[in-house]
Amino acid sequence: MDYPGNLFVVSAPSGAGKSSLVKALLELDSHVQPSVSHTTRAPRGQEKHGREYFFVSEQEFDAMVAANGFVEWANVHGRRYGTSRKAIEERVALGADVVLEIDYQGALQIKQAFVNAVLIFILPPSWEELRSRLERRGEDAADVIDLRLKNAEEEMAQAGKFDFVIINEVFERALFDLKTIVHAQRLKYAAQRRARADTFESLNIP
Ligand code: 5GP
Repeated sequence: MDYPGNLFVVSAPSGAGKSSLVKALLELDSHVQPSVSHTTRAPRGQEKHGREYFFVSEQEFDAMVAANGFVEWANVHGRRYGTSRKAIEERVALGADVVLEIDYQGALQIKQAFVNAVLIFILPPSWEELRSRLERRGEDAADVIDLRLKNAEEEMAQAGKFDFVIINEVFERALFDLKTIVHAQRLKYAAQRRARADTFESLNIP
């Protein structure tokens, strides 16, 4: 499907800093919009329905799958997560840049549906740093951390299928890298042709 907006898909193992990077990007760039996924997991802490996620029952999720309501969905850590087809298609058709923070299985499905989607994988600088970030976060018990590290190995093995890789060693540097990818996408011929149609026409460029 051809569409004027850009679709950025960001994946990373738990603890690599994906959420903080995307949050900072959204604060800096009002043209980028987040996508709110549906999930069957329960809300945590201050999470609000419709803000972090649409929290739905297993039955509601099944109904959306049956109605082809998801452009991608996957089982992650035993819970289901999906991206609403309607929300994405409508927004990129209107020219919005949308950022999806989803797991690698979902990212690869997005690439099937939107060939121009930009897949970005965030890596930690080392195993030691990944473990210490998960420990410092203080959200998970030791056995959960071990499980997340085990999953991280499988997840990171998929990085080669992504278009870009950011190594999140120093946060500001990684944010700069992310902004650069977004910016470069907007400088592509097709994007410039659309955004600056007047200039192209005045220069007689068809
Ligand atoms: P959490 O439950 O910690 O918010 O998210 C767990 C994992 O699910 C994260 O890796 C997150 O990126 C992923 N995730 C969140 N929303 C979606 C979605 O709509 N689709 C897919 N495939 N993964 C998602």
